[in-house]
Amino acid sequence: MFVYADNAATTKISKAALDAMMPAFETYYGNPSSLHTTGQEAAEQLLAARQSVAENLGAEAREIYFTSGGSEADNQAIRTGAILGAKKGKKHIISTAFEHHAVLHTLNKLEKEGFEITLLDVHKSGIITAQEVANAIREDTCLVTIMFANNEIGSIEPIAEIGAVCKEKGVLFHTDAVQAAGHLKIDVKEMNIDMLSLSAHKFHGPKGVGALYCRKGILLQNLIEGGAQERGKRAGTENLPAILGMAKALDDACGKIDENAKYVSAMRDRLIEGLSKIPHSIVNGDTEKRLPGNVNMCFEGIEGESLLLWLDANGIEASSGSACTSGSLDPSHVLLAIGLPHEVAHGSLRLSLCEENTPEEVEYIIETVPKVVDYLRNISPVWESLEKGEISHVI
Ligand SMILES: *Cc1c(COP(=O)(O)O)cnc(C)c1O
Repeated sequence: MFVYADNAATTKISKAALDAMMPAFETYYGNPSSLHTTGQEAAEQLLAARQSVAENLGAEAREIYFTSGGSEADNQAIRTGAILGAKKGKKHIISTAFEHHAVLHTLNKLEKEGFEITLLDVHKSGIITAQEVANAIREDTCLVTIMFANNEIGSIEPIAEIGAVCKEKGVLFHTDAVQAAGHLKIDVKEMNIDMLSLSAHKFHGPKGVGALYCRKGILLQNLIEGGAQERGKRAGTENLPAILGMAKALDDACGKIDENAKYVSAMRDRLIEGLSKIPHSIVNGDTEKRLPGNVNMCFEGIEGESLLLWLDANGIEASSGSACTSGSLDPSHVLLAIGLPHEVAHGSLRLSLCEENTPEEVEYIIETVPKVVDYLRNISPVWESLEKGEISHVI
């Protein structure tokens, strides 16, 4: 059996999204900035996509800026908050220790440029409270950037409450909603979100395209200089095929959000129940406030990388840590942020499901993972020491 269970890394593009892209290659190939008919037809398509994306977020079309993906949107939002803050002498930014690297590395750079960064503790559950954000806000705080839902452990943050706190204190609020868009209900107005990032390839759209919602009245700063595309805030000829694919994928995902969440979270819960029977294992993250498709566990005494390779050999594609950190030997910063010791964090497995997975696939995973864990433990010197009592179990 073949099971793709790495949907948090990327999803397969849907047939509908792919179909929606084709006219942009074949018919609407004009440059939306051109004044002739072919160009203006492309511009109309672009506007329709902008309206559709906006509607699905509770925003207005003019508040949506198309980008090359989630990373670019995160960079632009955070830079905007920093630049606008610095103009008023405010150079303090609040975030969390388990953000995506697109956020953390941008913050690291800003720190070197003279900003002060407070990273809030995310606790064992991976969930912070709005009160903790309120307590951290100072006179010189210019931006709060906190992810909507975590890409590794799936925990969902109290975004509406944090939005309310930031609004009350007059601090800009950005959220990296790359894992949430198309999976959880989002209303930027109701949730008092000032800026929000999303990426199409996380909800069955094409790769290399995303969007930044920026509330009207906030002077978005551009990262890329050039032509006047995206109202002068993001230069470069628009990637119309990808934008049309993204708009279609988001609209489809939002239209089935409850139905998909119900179906996928039932499989998630079954998977967690089945895999929790493995001795010396733990489930990472919150069990309730969790993305519908996310399962993240650690198994003591084994290496996540070996587990992945053996699962792959058995037809199961998953991830250990995030795709961006795989390839380095450091354990995931997310798992360390929720307080796991290094040796435990090394034995992590993330399975991320979508509505295309089936209960049969879930049963296959439940049969296969314990066998592979057993096999790896039997050849592991660390496990041998644990069994002999030379070192003690942490989980
Ligand atoms: C995937 C991801 C990103 C990066 O998005 P890209 O479109 O791949 O640049 C940012 N944040 C989170 C939470 C993600 O999961």
